[in-house]
Amino acid sequence: MSSESSLRADIVEVGRRMYARGYTASNDGNISVRLGADRLLMTPKSVCKGFMTPDMMCITDLDGRKLQGDRDPSSEMLMHLEVYRQRPDVQAVVHAHPPTATGFAVAGIPLDRAVLAEVLTTLGSIPIAEYATPSTRELPEAVRKYIKAHDGMLLANHGALTVGGDLYSAYFKMETIEHFAKISLVARLLGGENLIAREEVMRLQQLRGSYGIKAPAPICADLSDGAAAADASCQTVQAPSGHGARLVPDSPPSLAQRLAASHGGTPADASPEAGEIRLTYRELSALIEDAVRNLR
Ligand SMILES: [Zn+2]
Repeated sequence: MSSESSLRADIVEVGRRMYARGYTASNDGNISVRLGADRLLMTPKSVCKGFMTPDMMCITDLDGRKLQGDRDPSSEMLMHLEVYRQRPDVQAVVHAHPPTATGFAVAGIPLDRAVLAEVLTTLGSIPIAEYATPSTRELPEAVRKYIKAHDGMLLANHGALTVGGDLYSAYFKMETIEHFAKISLVARLLGGENLIAREEVMRLQQLRGSYGIKAPAPICADLSDGAAAADASCQTVQAPSGHGARLVPDSPPSLAQRLAASHGGTPADASPEAGEIRLTYRELSALIEDAVRNLR
């Protein structure tokens, strides 16, 4: 167990990194760590996480009663308390609003596709906890559904939450979620992710043991395992069965493809096998002129 002074310094450092990376703005976000068996060290209310000092932290008991500190504990204390109640293994909790991951949370899109081996081995899937008014008792309720089986989740229309066996582990999971969200966004802009096959997902899960990664719950064996997914006792990962299969349909046809279709023919360089159509500038101009004529 780390000493109280080093934990205070760690919270200051993690807060500084979160703010510097744009995961929080103004006074957003909060951080807590276990201080022994029955106390928590927590960031205070209404403080920018980029400019904290070690003396600002609050000490509370596991029911949220303040035991020490000049300031009041975080407005999201109830969410932190719920995590510690549900997960005796968790030593630290981090909450922030990293913009890309929060964009997914706002759009209602969970980060649960089998896309990156590292994410599958460490976090598994990243679900979205239902919307709840920040700082109320609704938020711990929403988090409770997923926290037993997940070390990271999005909070609908709000942000993200990560937990870990120590503070840096919880913080690095926040970094992983934001990094994963950025990669997912770029892949979707480029036409969609090629998903990793379910068989490979299961192989990656077996690697957890050999890398010493403690995941809170296994990946659901079957995507249609609705009963298991409903109480979140396993992690739902979108992965197709069979190598190379795509679970997620391709993106809608591009402008060029739609123009080609409206032109009534396929250009000479079309390569339907690859799902790709190449057009020269002259061909594209002709297609656009033709489409505009049809509109008139
Ligand atoms: Zn928040």
